[in-house]
Amino acid sequence: MSTPETANSRPSHFLRQVIEADLASGALQGRHFAGVPGDAQQLAAAPLDRARIRTRFPPEPNGYLHIGHAKSICLNFGLAADYGGVCHLRLDDTNPEKEDMHYVEAIRDAVRWLGFDWVSEGVSHEYFASDYFDFMWRAACALIEAGLAYVDEQSAEDMRRNRGTLTEPGLDSPWRGRPRADSLRRFQEMRDGLHAEGSMVLRARIDMASPNLNLRDPTLYRIRFVRHHRTGERWCIYPMYTFAHPIEDALERITHSICTLEFEDQRPFYDWLLQHLAELGLLERPLPRQFEFARLNLSTVLTSKRKLAQLVEQGHVAGWDDPRLPTIAGLRRRGYTPGALRLFAERIGVSKSDSWIDYSVLEGALRDDLDPLAPRAMAVLDPLPLVLDNWDEVIGAGRLETCHAPLHPHHAERGLRSFQLGPRVWIERSDFEFEPPKGFFRLFPGGRVRLKYGYVIECTGAERAADGSAREVHARIVPDTRSGTPGAAAVKVKGVISWVGAADALPAEVRLYEPLFLAEQPDAGGADFLRALNPRSLQVVQAWVEPSLAQAAAGESFQFERHGYFVADLRDHGAARLVFNRTTGLRDGR
Ligand code: ATP
Ligand code: MG
Repeated sequence: MSTPETANSRPSHFLRQVIEADLASGALQGRHFAGVPGDAQQLAAAPLDRARIRTRFPPEPNGYLHIGHAKSICLNFGLAADYGGVCHLRLDDTNPEKEDMHYVEAIRDAVRWLGFDWVSEGVSHEYFASDYFDFMWRAACALIEAGLAYVDEQSAEDMRRNRGTLTEPGLDSPWRGRPRADSLRRFQEMRDGLHAEGSMVLRARIDMASPNLNLRDPTLYRIRFVRHHRTGERWCIYPMYTFAHPIEDALERITHSICTLEFEDQRPFYDWLLQHLAELGLLERPLPRQFEFARLNLSTVLTSKRKLAQLVEQGHVAGWDDPRLPTIAGLRRRGYTPGALRLFAERIGVSKSDSWIDYSVLEGALRDDLDPLAPRAMAVLDPLPLVLDNWDEVIGAGRLETCHAPLHPHHAERGLRSFQLGPRVWIERSDFEFEPPKGFFRLFPGGRVRLKYGYVIECTGAERAADGSAREVHARIVPDTRSGTPGAAAVKVKGVISWVGAADALPAEVRLYEPLFLAEQPDAGGADFLRALNPRSLQVVQAWVEPSLAQAAAGESFQFERHGYFVADLRDHGAARLVFNRTTGLRDGR
């Protein structure tokens, strides 16, 4: 059975169906917005919103974005683009601890690099939740005045105890019935810095017996004497995420607020809050609605900023852009392309139940994106010298032969690369065996192979090093077998090996990566993921590469023939020092 396709010919999913139904029913009409978030009064003075839908990507600027965020970015920006809408970049900076402008910059970079933009028709839709602190304060005061919130002075421990459990209802706080004026005065004192952290909080007054624990008078504000990276010392009370987020969505006129499944139980409070604030005349209708989708879980990968921060801070990796990390910065440095990540996001789709995606799906998307684009090159990663003993006789002493190869095998129009074949070349150590196992079609004494784009050669033997391994292989050229010349195919061989010529090969540092973790789910069930670290996750080798790579630009991707995809390292690669990172192999081999 084929998947239903939308007008955009992308696979449909429940969020597309919701949006299409909302657009068809006119449920989203009547919203005012012109790029300035506002309350009911301010928005009423603005023109009708020209965007058909509004979504948002709301990271907390407390770390670097990872592959899970990439899924959310592609989803939110992608839906907006597909339905004539706009997606906001919202820095959700309501929690002053650990947040920093440095992360804001990194977030902007990551979103832009993925190919998305929050500027629409010349209007920037980048917003900071901390800009809404004044409104949030007003909203909280309005709730108190309406009898919908109160200041609770129970100890944290009492609050926890009186919350009840899944099977037992909670107990009302002794402060629940205090007069509104009393709560208002206390709330003002909290703001004025007159009370200690933890001594009191503002809570919604909903229902301590609700089967949904999130409706048992959730906390709205707490005291924190912490400097905020944008509002400085102005506030010593900060809103809770559950209170702040719906308000942020409403002020920005978001239509579809898409979040991960763990917020499903918060949705009743999301609606409770917005409906009351609309009734109190503070927010314009129609109100935003929340929809939940399954977060991305990727095998062998951690997708938690906090855990990634631990790896960086404890030095298990070399920084946030370490190519072994699933951060967007790390993936980029590893050679992942924006196109590959978007393709991945599209392929995994959107569902309402949690599951694990195999890492090979990500690598598959990468290969599919790179294969038609990446120029080809030859490289020898574990070099073994090969001497062609009859070179002088057959070709001529001191002569070199120029060999040609297509830049891309399926795009002849992209032209050729060239390199020199001479009496000495480098071959891959694994391409030679003294005693070939069954089915080994590469080089062994008495065997014949083709040096790719060059001659057929016949191995005459090899010298051994002290440890018994091959030190130098010897072979003879089979005359008149050069690739691309008449009669070259007359001599049949079963194997073709890659090589680079000693005359013009360039030395390069190549970084070979394996998964950072050996476990499929390194942090499953609260497991200590550090114990699953792969000691071989990085190996650095000295390789020889063909001369065309002298021009490689940092960040440029190549397919090293027979080896896989490699990228010139963004930090360390330059004309004076070639450094390549292995992005992935040619086939799924993890
Ligand atoms: P982390 O636990 O890594 O800190 P987070 O959800 O707390 O992640 P936020 O900065 O709050 O990080 O996330 C911004 C957005 O990215 C949220 O809308 C969140 O739903 C989404 N997101 C985060 N992780 C994933 C994931 N693994 N899969 C899909 N979406 C994700
Ligand atoms: Mg978070």
